[in-house]
Amino acid sequence: MNNVVDFTEKMLGLQGLKVIHTYVNNGIFTVCAMPTAVSGACPKCGSTTETIHDVRVQDYMHLPIWGTKTVLVLPIFRLECKCDPDHPFDLRYSFIRKYQRQTVHYEKHIYNLCKQNVIKNVCSLEGISYVKCQRIFNHYAQEEIYSRPSNKVRLIGIDDLARKKDHNYNTAVYDLETHSLIAMFKGRTKEDVIAFFKSLGEEFRGGIEAVAMDMSRSYCNGVLETLPNAKPVIDRFHLSQLFHNQVDDARKHIQNKVRKEEDNKQKVFGIRWSLLKNFEDLEAEEMRQLFKVCDEYPKLGQCFALKEEFHKFFDIDTKENAAAFIEYFKELVEESGIPELQSFNRTLERWREYILNFYDYKISNGPTEGFNNKIKNIKRRAYGYRNDKNFEIRVKLECA
Ligand SMILES: [Zn+2]
Repeated sequence: MNNVVDFTEKMLGLQGLKVIHTYVNNGIFTVCAMPTAVSGACPKCGSTTETIHDVRVQDYMHLPIWGTKTVLVLPIFRLECKCDPDHPFDLRYSFIRKYQRQTVHYEKHIYNLCKQNVIKNVCSLEGISYVKCQRIFNHYAQEEIYSRPSNKVRLIGIDDLARKKDHNYNTAVYDLETHSLIAMFKGRTKEDVIAFFKSLGEEFRGGIEAVAMDMSRSYCNGVLETLPNAKPVIDRFHLSQLFHNQVDDARKHIQNKVRKEEDNKQKVFGIRWSLLKNFEDLEAEEMRQLFKVCDEYPKLGQCFALKEEFHKFFDIDTKENAAAFIEYFKELVEESGIPELQSFNRTLERWREYILNFYDYKISNGPTEGFNNKIKNIKRRAYGYRNDKNFEIRVKLECA
């Protein structure tokens, strides 16, 4: 018998407990134990007392011992202190959190299961309720998130989140140095951005040096109004994407004009993709067709040449040269008279300073693209996504 008790004590792995007896009933291993010492510090005066006021018994789920569901039965003592004998206090166990019906060891076991599984599966595996499982997961996930080393945040990215059916998050903010998600919030207006950054406190706001973003006025103005030391940096990927959209619009425009002039409604150039592709990546046949059409329609040839020219912008390595290039390119566009590219010129002019800020802070939202996929993935796995809070905790835990 002593051997069994000894063994059980070791298997429990809990300090300060003495096992009294054990039994197995209906496949549940029950362990009755006592604390090795019954004494506690009075919460009012701090002095130690051993005077027992009353005692009751409570059972707690614990880690399975040799694969058998294990329940720990413990006495809950209430002690009284001389300073106020009418108000006894609970003698707490260090391995049980307040108002919990399971040990911390068991909770951590649940937490680890939840990290790798859908909550619903953990519930049926362990035979515990969904709400309890989610609550345990949230507690330890938040503990883990808060315990991460918090270095000073200097460079951040702010980006759109495709709106998910069950979630109202529209905007995500990332720490671009640690590649972790700082927060998600609702809305994408200037007021939303301001409200969010204001909630982060003055010290945090003052520490931000640069913010990667697309050419969105609401993000930009929100940042300028709340982050006193931050430079907006236009994301290069977005700049390139916007340019390509304008080139594509120009092609459509030219094509429509040709259709009218030649009275041929079916006329297509067949170069939509080859016009936008990197020239080096073109197949021989695509190249042949592209040159043929560009020869035939000089406006399109100009459009193609300007597109190729602008690609050089992304290889420039000094701010001075980049600024000179923008002026040079704008002139080329003006000479071409292509309205869609002239509209791009105005964009370049409007965002010029923030496009050039890239040379002070070489940041982009590119690295966070992966997060958007991760977030989608979490959504797909349906990890407790019925509730925004649960979803956010899961995303923060995994996006780091
Ligand atoms: Zn006292």
